[in-house]
Amino acid sequence: MQKLVADIMLAKLARWLRIVGVEVENTPYSNDDRIINYVRRRHALLLTQDRALSLRSKRRKFKVLLVQGSTLDEQLAFTAHKLGVRLDVIPEAVCPICNSKLSKANRSFVIDKIPESAKQRRKFYFCANCKKVYWKGTHFAQIKNRLAKARQLQKKLGQ
Ligand SMILES: [Zn+2]
Repeated sequence: MQKLVADIMLAKLARWLRIVGVEVENTPYSNDDRIINYVRRRHALLLTQDRALSLRSKRRKFKVLLVQGSTLDEQLAFTAHKLGVRLDVIPEAVCPICNSKLSKANRSFVIDKIPESAKQRRKFYFCANCKKVYWKGTHFAQIKNRLAKARQLQKKLGQ
């Protein structure tokens, strides 16, 4: 798949794209020229809501997606629609923080890394890079709800 880079304003969208298994990098820059150079070096597609930056990128023949939507749900639906992404939860996919692949983790391995409320859970996932543990629980249910909402919006865009 096309490499993606999200500008700083869309860091939250990038995190949600990672949740559904899409690898997205965040630009470390806020300056337009630096962003453009960064995207060019990576032969990536830039995700931005900045109209001026989008126009500049196009003029310089870079691939850019001007993301529409004022809420996260709308942005997610729009981006998924444009990129042909399915908005389903893929827990084994990637860490929403750093993009590393998550692996399944044994209960004994995570037990001292999780809050009391999560200890009844059965399935755990671990990011070897940020040492963060994920599990199926309320957090996961919230993710599912948000994706379900975004999927509804995505359907409308497809009509
Ligand atoms: Zn991570």
